[in-house]
Amino acid sequence: MRIFNFSAGPAVLPTAVLEQARDELLDWHGCGMSIMEMSHRGKDFTGVIEEAQADLRDLMGIPSNYKVLFLQGGATQLFAQIPMNLLAGRSADYVVTGSWSKKAYKEAQRIGSVRLAGTTESGKFTCVPAAAELQFDPQAAYAHICTNETIHGVEMFELPEVPAGVPLVADMSSHILSRPMDVSRYGLIYAGAQKNIGPAGLVIVIVREDLLGRALPSTPSVMDFSVMAEHGSMLNTPPTFGIYLAGLIFKHLKAQGGLAAVETANIAKARLVYDAIESSGGFYRNPVEQGCRSRMNVPFTLENPALDGDFLVEAAARRLAGLKGHKSVGGMRASIYNAMSLEGVTALVELMQDFAARKA
Ligand SMILES: *Cc1c(COP(=O)(O)O)cnc(C)c1O
Repeated sequence: MRIFNFSAGPAVLPTAVLEQARDELLDWHGCGMSIMEMSHRGKDFTGVIEEAQADLRDLMGIPSNYKVLFLQGGATQLFAQIPMNLLAGRSADYVVTGSWSKKAYKEAQRIGSVRLAGTTESGKFTCVPAAAELQFDPQAAYAHICTNETIHGVEMFELPEVPAGVPLVADMSSHILSRPMDVSRYGLIYAGAQKNIGPAGLVIVIVREDLLGRALPSTPSVMDFSVMAEHGSMLNTPPTFGIYLAGLIFKHLKAQGGLAAVETANIAKARLVYDAIESSGGFYRNPVEQGCRSRMNVPFTLENPALDGDFLVEAAARRLAGLKGHKSVGGMRASIYNAMSLEGVTALVELMQDFAARKA
């Protein structure tokens, strides 16, 4: 019996995909072994990675002048790897809108010269910065943003205006594939897999070709995007099982009707949770401004934090898991990624309403 898993990550995956992976685990497509046991250089696995890439390109509408890399590691590793690859002796701009972009900014300082283009920290990360609050360096090597702040529940629905020629670099770890995105507006997009894509250990990079070949000379070759691009993400052994599973997810999303259909479902799910908060008369609160509330991560607090423990106990009794908020913000957090069903969201909303009716 599967629970409703609201964990921020690693997170819920579609049951149908897990069932397919289970069915293929011992004997992948009649070849007598698991996908995990086969050479990454053989034609079977080469087919898997090529198909995964083609499906991702199709889903996201990735233009042909972008490379798609399937790398080992997580988004945190990319916080260092991006300046290694893109700074090229210049300075980069960072927009800080929550814990993750702040970490990215701090980590980049270890590699080279970076500057803060703007931050919403004084307002406790409850909005995206207005254009007037951002000052970009027109000479910046790139401008880094996090388009969905997983901990603070802040999502960018409009991109900041960066000076012409400054490529936008986006950490999309927790909302990639949740809606259509115009890839051509970015120089580089990256996302760790364990929120909307698959198992942890895989990170996807989508990079415009003209940004390759700029790595600092000290960059290790496994961390150099251009070396990885030249070798089709297989300079060394890639995270083969993660790539296989990501490929199954991409096919699953295509079968659902692609990202426009996925977005429609996500809007409906998010609306249910935010409506439950808004209609609770202050029993539940979400501090984020209306226009930038994340459709993927919904943090909320109880008016009386002494009830937090009871709420979590009742949630567990209803098989709702992973709702405890991040320690830095407290309260609760419902992560409602693509794979969270409407049924799961409905069960959460029923608990919220029922609990409030009894305890208010
Ligand atoms: C989860 C997350 C990360 C960190 O991912 P790791 O795989 O743990 O390095 C970075 N950025 C965002 C937006 C995230 O949600």
